[in-house]
Amino acid sequence: MRRQIVIGNWKMNGSVTANSELLAEILDQWTGVHQAEVAVCPPYPYLAAAAVQLDNSNVGLGAQDISTQSSGAYTGEISGDMLTDVGCRYVLVGHSERREYHGETSELVAEKFQAALDKGLTPVLCVGETLAERENGKTFDVIGQQLLAVVEHCGLPGVAKGIIAYEPVWAIGTGKTATPEMAQDVHSYIREVLGPEGDQMRILYGGSVKPDSAEGLFGQKDIDGALVGGASLKAEDFVAICRAAE
Ligand code: PEP
Repeated sequence: MRRQIVIGNWKMNGSVTANSELLAEILDQWTGVHQAEVAVCPPYPYLAAAAVQLDNSNVGLGAQDISTQSSGAYTGEISGDMLTDVGCRYVLVGHSERREYHGETSELVAEKFQAALDKGLTPVLCVGETLAERENGKTFDVIGQQLLAVVEHCGLPGVAKGIIAYEPVWAIGTGKTATPEMAQDVHSYIREVLGPEGDQMRILYGGSVKPDSAEGLFGQKDIDGALVGGASLKAEDFVAICRAAE
């Protein structure tokens, strides 16, 4: 049995006050014991305060990126040790916004995935095709290449320690969601590429997930939860998505 997981990616949003209010609302609405696992990924400067607020709660903490380096003269970078030091359990790697705006290659993403594993963090590997790639029938090729770069670098047993998030680039922040069937097709392909190791891995869908689209997506057999951007900034919507995962 794969435990469903919903992760909120706050991206570059929030402030000391806004984040603490948002977390307080989420904690208030997500009390007690739940089947679904839940985590949030605030921006770096707010991780430590979030860790204090989430202490002894059922909401985990993650970061949005990680350095490939352990320490030293790497201005602006944040290491895996620093993330674990402030209480992170998860870290996103290869988000399409990092690939697109920061030129992150699949090889660099693979190194980040390994850096996370080395420090005991659970990497959440984001993969996804652009609209042009989908329209040109390249979806499976693109996803396959993004996955294989990580498999080659970390090995299948290494990859199996992480989580995969299928995030079609054309659905991120656009309000367009892949239909449950479209998402299921890609999730099942990802599992096939990963072989037996893929059976135990959690594969999340991400791309404009909202409370009203969550249930249909989570009803698919290979969808094990969601990576949520915009809707994770509103406690009511985020918690509604978490509930749909139960
Ligand atoms: C994301 O950035 O990971 C994401 C899925 O964003 P949104 O839900 O806003 O499309």
